[in-house]
Amino acid sequence: MIKNKTKIILLLSFVFLFSACKPAWKIEVFEDGRNIGVINQESVKFYIDNYEEETSEIPLGQMLYDLGYTLVDEITFISESEASLTYVWDEIGETATIRESGEITLEDDKMISADQIEIDAPSISNYYSIMDIAPTIAYAFTLPELPNANGQVRLTESGIWDHAVMIFLDGLNYDILTSLIDTGKLPFFEQLNGVQQGITVFPPITTSSSAALLTSTLPKENKVYGYGYRKTTSKTLFDLFAENSKSVIAVEGHSLAFNLRNAETILSGDRDENGITNDNVFENSLEVILSDMPDLLYIHFHDIDDMGHQYGPFSSEYEASIIQVDSYLEEIFIRLPEDTLITIFADHGMHKTEDGGNHGTLTAADLIIPIIFIEK
Ligand SMILES: [Zn+2]
Ligand SMILES: [Zn+2]
Repeated sequence: MIKNKTKIILLLSFVFLFSACKPAWKIEVFEDGRNIGVINQESVKFYIDNYEEETSEIPLGQMLYDLGYTLVDEITFISESEASLTYVWDEIGETATIRESGEITLEDDKMISADQIEIDAPSISNYYSIMDIAPTIAYAFTLPELPNANGQVRLTESGIWDHAVMIFLDGLNYDILTSLIDTGKLPFFEQLNGVQQGITVFPPITTSSSAALLTSTLPKENKVYGYGYRKTTSKTLFDLFAENSKSVIAVEGHSLAFNLRNAETILSGDRDENGITNDNVFENSLEVILSDMPDLLYIHFHDIDDMGHQYGPFSSEYEASIIQVDSYLEEIFIRLPEDTLITIFADHGMHKTEDGGNHGTLTAADLIIPIIFIEK
């Protein structure tokens, strides 16, 4: 027989365990009066525990992304004790964070609390996704599907290509690209059949976008949650090529932004010391195309992103970098062999900041990307 004292201790520990497991708070999220889900202590704590760098607050955008939102127009915070507050999301999206306590911080350290959030979001059902690229290339070569692929195949015919090229334009803002095309500054892009609007994953940074690009899975699946994660254990397009005895060459800038296992990697340092690497990436790409064209060629141009960070996306430097890439793409296109499937895309966009540009927030400027499939 269990002694009374032991019984009380057991009972107390059950009560304690139960209350420790129960989330301390929750915020119900609604769109058009429909309950979409909740943000709670557990969902915030997941990222506090999993982010590589130590942090006590998580972007509110991360929580909205996990509930299925990539673009948000407006957000309303509703609490029982205070008047509700509505914001244009793009004005607070960069700074809004949430803590494990449930406290939300907006811009200028303004703290609020909410029991409910109402979202007004645009439809993105007609957008391409960065996760479409790997399944499309796999399909083009009649390879098996990647496990748990999230993307859609954007081709109708399969098995008619000898080669594929992935042209990765780091940090190219969709709106700026299309406005430069409209003003006649990009002759190569202009003669293509339009640029598709695409969406990258959150956070829109090179590591997470590269993982989504290569695995066709979301960060929660491939575990590349953000900065500091440079590889994934999920199966990549390059793994799939290697398993099927197909060759992959990756021409990179001065360093690898993300682990590219199963690709022969060519680093293109700034050999001529002119402060940029795109010219070196371009030369190395031409050399590969003319001497040793693999089944899949991956070309990563970095300078547009660098110029965007340094001078901002509306600067003449950013524009000049895009114009230069346009001329490189024309040269590459001319030299590619016949029956090559080409995809041109950005990993994320770029928004203006006080001292240049940045990306990584749940805003249209960062998340909307150009995606193009062309055939030669
Ligand atoms: Zn990038
Ligand atoms: Zn960047």
